[in-house]
Amino acid sequence: MLRQALSSGTSFCVKRGLLTMRAEQLRPLRNMSLSSSVELTADRYPDVKRHNFALLDSNHVQFFKSILGQDRVLTDAEELETYNVDWLKMVRGSSKIVLKPKTTEEVSQILRFCNSENLAVCPQGGNTGLVGGSVPVFDEVIMSTALMNNIISLDELSGVLVCQAGCILETLETYLQDRGLMMPLDLGAKGSCHIGGNVSTNAGGLRLLRYGSLQGNVLGIEAVKADGEVIDCLSCLKKDNTGYHLKHLFIGSEGTLGLVTKVAIHCPPNPKSTNTAFLGLNSFDDVLRTYKDARAGLGEILSSCEMMDAQSLDACTSNLKLRNPIRDFPFYMLIETAGSNGKHDEEKLTQFLEQSMADGIVQDGTVATEPSRIKHMWNLREGISSGLRLDGYIYKYDISLPLTNFYSIIPELLSRLPKHAKRCCGFGHLGDGNLHLNVTSKEYDHEILDSIEPFVFEWTSKYRGSISAEHGIGFLKTKFVHYSKSRNSLNLMKDLKKLMDPKGILNPYKQMWNIRESISLALLSEGYLYKYDISLPHDSFYSIIPELTKRLPSHIIRCCGYGHIGDGNLHLNVTSKEYDHNILDVIEPFVYEWTSKLRGSVSAEHGIGFKKTKFVHYSKSQSSLNLMKDIKKIMDPNGILNPYKSIWEPRERITDAYMCDGFLFSYDLSLPYANYYKLVEKTVERLSGCSSVVRICGHGHIGDGNLHLNITSKEYDHEILDLMEPFVFEWTSKLQGSVSAEHGIGFKKTKFIHYSKSHSSLNLMKDIKKIMDPNGILNPYKKSNASQEYRECSEMFENCSANTCEKLLVFVQDISEESRVTHPYSEYGLTP
Ligand SMILES: Cc1cc2nc3c(=O)[nH]c(=O)nc-3n(C[C@H](O)[C@H](O)[C@H](O)COP(=O)(O)OP(=O)(O)OC[C@H]3O[C@@H](n4cnc5c(N)ncnc54)[C@H](O)[C@@H]3O)c2cc1C
Repeated sequence: MLRQALSSGTSFCVKRGLLTMRAEQLRPLRNMSLSSSVELTADRYPDVKRHNFALLDSNHVQFFKSILGQDRVLTDAEELETYNVDWLKMVRGSSKIVLKPKTTEEVSQILRFCNSENLAVCPQGGNTGLVGGSVPVFDEVIMSTALMNNIISLDELSGVLVCQAGCILETLETYLQDRGLMMPLDLGAKGSCHIGGNVSTNAGGLRLLRYGSLQGNVLGIEAVKADGEVIDCLSCLKKDNTGYHLKHLFIGSEGTLGLVTKVAIHCPPNPKSTNTAFLGLNSFDDVLRTYKDARAGLGEILSSCEMMDAQSLDACTSNLKLRNPIRDFPFYMLIETAGSNGKHDEEKLTQFLEQSMADGIVQDGTVATEPSRIKHMWNLREGISSGLRLDGYIYKYDISLPLTNFYSIIPELLSRLPKHAKRCCGFGHLGDGNLHLNVTSKEYDHEILDSIEPFVFEWTSKYRGSISAEHGIGFLKTKFVHYSKSRNSLNLMKDLKKLMDPKGILNPYKQMWNIRESISLALLSEGYLYKYDISLPHDSFYSIIPELTKRLPSHIIRCCGYGHIGDGNLHLNVTSKEYDHNILDVIEPFVYEWTSKLRGSVSAEHGIGFKKTKFVHYSKSQSSLNLMKDIKKIMDPNGILNPYKSIWEPRERITDAYMCDGFLFSYDLSLPYANYYKLVEKTVERLSGCSSVVRICGHGHIGDGNLHLNITSKEYDHEILDLMEPFVFEWTSKLQGSVSAEHGIGFKKTKFIHYSKSHSSLNLMKDIKKIMDPNGILNPYKKSNASQEYRECSEMFENCSANTCEKLLVFVQDISEESRVTHPYSEYGLTP
């Protein structure tokens, strides 16, 4: 039954050399006139501002020529066009120069020079990247690796290949095949992409399911940092755990941390037998079922599992005129096995397919074992991107999703697209959970873009997928990376970037934080920036801007808003030539009051930090703040983590600030409201003659009737203590207050507790203590009746035996020792 079904599908016409055709399809770009058809990136994305890099001048060109010679420095406008436009024809830079070094030393000299001259650089490999990373955004110097194409060595025993970064992937594949080996990665752009570009984008491709990612296969890298320093981590060892694995800094960093010059890569043996099956299915559920069965049935020989929907295949059949080898179906799968025993592998595949067809899951299929037929099947899958390009403009998304939600995004998106979108389709590396979602239209259309973005990223984020599975972030995804990465991860990346390329000359505008920063940087360049990040309801999202503008003085430069409208998050910014307190007074607390009135948040995504601590109550209730405070105390009792930045910080740090004066006499009292602050005034009077006093002040929880009275002096002064104690406690007692509102008795207040507590209460406490801790081992000397205890001890001291006397002496010495260390509390009468 299978044989019949298969034979009906094997009658397609096999074209020769289709693989080479792929490469040729990519190459014509170099000769096409593109400037007319592709809008300048700077025009399409006006929000992105050019950074303050130097402009290329004749001295720079002269220097480059002195290193590379005339031929390897391109400045001819027409010649530059193909280097300025990306493969998808989505973005176009306006670089005036392309440099083509041949050696690491030349790269190093050029980068050192660019860094010192503040010239931005865009590293470029085969320019097949699909996210706009490989071409300049403005006028960056293009550093092409096209002539760094030497194979340096191959150890056939271990399979380790060392080569320069500009080697074309297909060239390496051919070289290895002659020696019984293969590259661990394969992708549709193999005829043009460079291994350096593959490594820099951490390209995945068609073999990842079997051979894993480049993170595992790349053994070593040589790269040049922005300042020209050569980082040699070109290890050829499969095991090398000496220190940090620096090669990973460059794998997938898309030319933002350094230019990769050499790569050592582990190459597996070429499989002796390869079988490819092309299958037709009725639903995506059947696709998933087939994948599950293939994993179980084919096991270790399963090397690829790709899927494509009808619209994806149609891009190949209609636009590239490739022939579908089976009937039309809503879904297709391409399954490949690779192994060492042809008979065994073929049998396994046949068995699996027979079962799938018997179960009614796979509807039709064809199997190829000959290389030319295998190539044809792969062309149907690999040619999709080229086919889609012929529709006109492609909106391209490369996402990772859990398989259960892998395809449902396509119908969902389809229902959102305007009618003039041409095609919406999905294909990809099913085995890796990697979907290529594509929408096409005749030409670029903003309405279509708006219906796709940020929807696609929000969807992906909701299912905990990745907004870039294998293509990278490039230029086109910078502002969406937060859908996949946490703020902390992004901050760490930013720190790494600062470390590796402090001037930011390498591939600027293409880091995850750049778009946002470029607005902020542009605003900052105007002078002083007053910056607010608030959440507001959608219907009142923007109304604060005109309202605030009305109030601001005329000497501001700008009052503007931008943000994530989908999240109700507005970034409100005001700029002035320099900091002006009058402007700040107009903005604050107005912005927060307005936000609070509309039940928004004073910090949507930036946090509280230091600047917003005193405004947080506009968004959070007192009880929430108290809870946060309690959590903070549990997690960080000493408050060492980011002090001064907690929301209660200015209030809480008062005591720390007092301590800076020198010595602090601190009292924590409960007092009736009517006389709450009088004690402070009374204390000022009382200490008026004390020259050592620095400050007398009161703060506290007025709502609780709890005053913190504080007196500071340069150093401990007995006169102050004598004037204050027991006066403070007598005053408190007279007003029926408490000598300790919230701090407790501890050691310092033991002898004053009777100003607040009756004798009977104290006796009861003593009794309870005896029950709970009869030997008094828990926090001795700090009991509420310690002073009384001392008095009792002293009495005993006079009438005791020598043995008891010794024990008492130890007790007294301990107390006095503690006193000496902390404060000279000799007035406690504890001198031994
Ligand atoms: C038809 C087609 C099919 C594709 N299929 C796949 C696929 O299956 N899987 C996949 O992952 N990708 C795929 N891609 C995307 C693309 O081919 C890969 O991203 C590829 O790895 C890019 O290599 P490149 O040499 O062309 O790099 P470029 O496009 O030139 O550059 C890509 C990025 O790397 C940087 N870069 C390039 N070289 C260096 C270097 N030596 N040092 C530092 N930075 C450098 C560039 O600045 C840029 O940011 C496909 C592309 C096409 C056109």
